[in-house]
Amino acid sequence: MDKYLWILGFVVIALVLLYFGYKLFFKGQYDPILVRKVVEAPRTCPVCSIRLLPGERVKSWAFPPGRTSDRLMNIAGCPYCLRGERPRICPVCGAVLGEGEILIARLFDKPGRSHVHVLGCSQCRSPK
Ligand SMILES: [Zn+2]
Ligand SMILES: [Zn+2]
Repeated sequence: MDKYLWILGFVVIALVLLYFGYKLFFKGQYDPILVRKVVEAPRTCPVCSIRLLPGERVKSWAFPPGRTSDRLMNIAGCPYCLRGERPRICPVCGAVLGEGEILIARLFDKPGRSHVHVLGCSQCRSPK
């Protein structure tokens, strides 16, 4: 009988560990999902101003990843201008962006809606 109690106790501990492990795993997965949702937000490419079709994504990174509001965002561009098919122009200073140059934007996250405000590019925003 004691042996069964031991096994029962072990199973309970294993379930608790599994639950917390799952929660930890889920929490770790939450941020990339949030970033991906945000990345889909711009309907036009801020770099070459092409209208994007559903499913076409602007390559960008938001940080810090955990915060929900007022983050900075680096925008590389959409599939068209990253392939060099369209000129990549900074909407703030008008400079033509070279390979590896990006736009810097501020990201305002609101529930259900996020707003991206472009501050400049790596040319006009870089510390002189
Ligand atoms: Zn583009
Ligand atoms: Zn610029």
